[in-house]
Amino acid sequence: MDSKAIRDEFFEQYVEFYKGGPVPSNASNDFAYYLECHRKRLEKKGIQAIKKIEKIEDNIDNTFNREKQPYILDMTYKECNYETEYYKDGVFLARSDKDTETLYCNVLHKQGYVEETVSCPNCGHSAGAKTFINGCPMCGTGFKTFKFFPCVTSFYTLPKFVERSSIDKGLKNVVKFGIAAAVIVAIGVGLYNGIVNKSWGAGIFFGIIAGLLTGWLGTIFMYLGYSLFVGITAFSKMFAQAADTSDIQAARLTRKRFETDMRRYFPDFSYEYFEGKMQDLLKTIIFTEDRSNLSIYKGHDQLGYLNDVVDVEYRGGFKYMGSSVVGDVLHVRLINYVTCEVWCEEKLAKYQRNFRIEVVRRLKTQDDLGFSIHAVNCPTCGATFDAMHVDKCPHCGNPYDLINDDWVVILVGE
Ligand SMILES: [Zn+2]
Ligand SMILES: [Zn+2]
Repeated sequence: MDSKAIRDEFFEQYVEFYKGGPVPSNASNDFAYYLECHRKRLEKKGIQAIKKIEKIEDNIDNTFNREKQPYILDMTYKECNYETEYYKDGVFLARSDKDTETLYCNVLHKQGYVEETVSCPNCGHSAGAKTFINGCPMCGTGFKTFKFFPCVTSFYTLPKFVERSSIDKGLKNVVKFGIAAAVIVAIGVGLYNGIVNKSWGAGIFFGIIAGLLTGWLGTIFMYLGYSLFVGITAFSKMFAQAADTSDIQAARLTRKRFETDMRRYFPDFSYEYFEGKMQDLLKTIIFTEDRSNLSIYKGHDQLGYLNDVVDVEYRGGFKYMGSSVVGDVLHVRLINYVTCEVWCEEKLAKYQRNFRIEVVRRLKTQDDLGFSIHAVNCPTCGATFDAMHVDKCPHCGNPYDLINDDWVVILVGE
């Protein structure tokens, strides 16, 4: 199955998931974990977040990939109308802006992958790994110490300004309206001449002339009027957007410096992969209830104020604030720009939040595209275990430290 087909199927199942459906069948186990955390948070607050992904005409639909044998990561992006409606006990609360967004969806393939057989630790049921995505199909026990491919590892949206398709649709309507007006005027003038002046020859003649004039002049005037309207709205929208996103535009200017710095340590560093990773880490930390003993977060602050957040959208940029090396550990500081929907004191409110984040990683580690925190291999005994909430191998007791395999967040602040 090609990545775009997997993505489109994922979009449909993602929408269903937020209506109460099962975890999308192609979600990687890390991503499935995030979705379940998000669902628990929404349930705890009694909020329904109904997601919509509407296709738009003539959209941009592309893929670029990153290859690191045996993995190929396809980063697909597609323009869609993405929006969320929030409800509390069935009562409508708010709707996110209905605008064109670019949806990023990363699909990970593994060459030569043969689906592994997994056994349920509770009832012993054994079947293909993918059938366990929503827990054991026999007894419902949830566990995630498996991987399958291809899978969707990450999904996030970027706001987008230009709505080309709606402008095209408007122009088509202008032309249709011009033709309709021409036909009506032609029939009217023709009938008037034919009935009142009793001259059907003149009726047909003047009818055609009047119709052509109406169609021609009418369409021109409407076209001019419409262009002016589109121009003014587009300009004011652009102006509002520029004011609204100036911090992000400025933040994105740090990209070059960031890439240059990172490639000194990781020659095949990928900005997009890192960007997706940071969004996933932040969202998972926000929606996890118990942040003590969390492998991906080693900060001192228990971040209780994040427990009221019910939804998070990436605003499309992060700012690189610098990096340093301590021993053989690389520290990277950044500011991540997101919008949070917060349910507090029986009210839903939307805030732009600029999270200061510091992440660390051991220098000798390389990106392992197939790495999953929920299925790590013990370097000592080789057992596979879920390391999200434990810091040692449950089989041989040897300490496990995520920093040897992947990025770890050590600070989240504002
Ligand atoms: Zn079972
Ligand atoms: Zn072990």
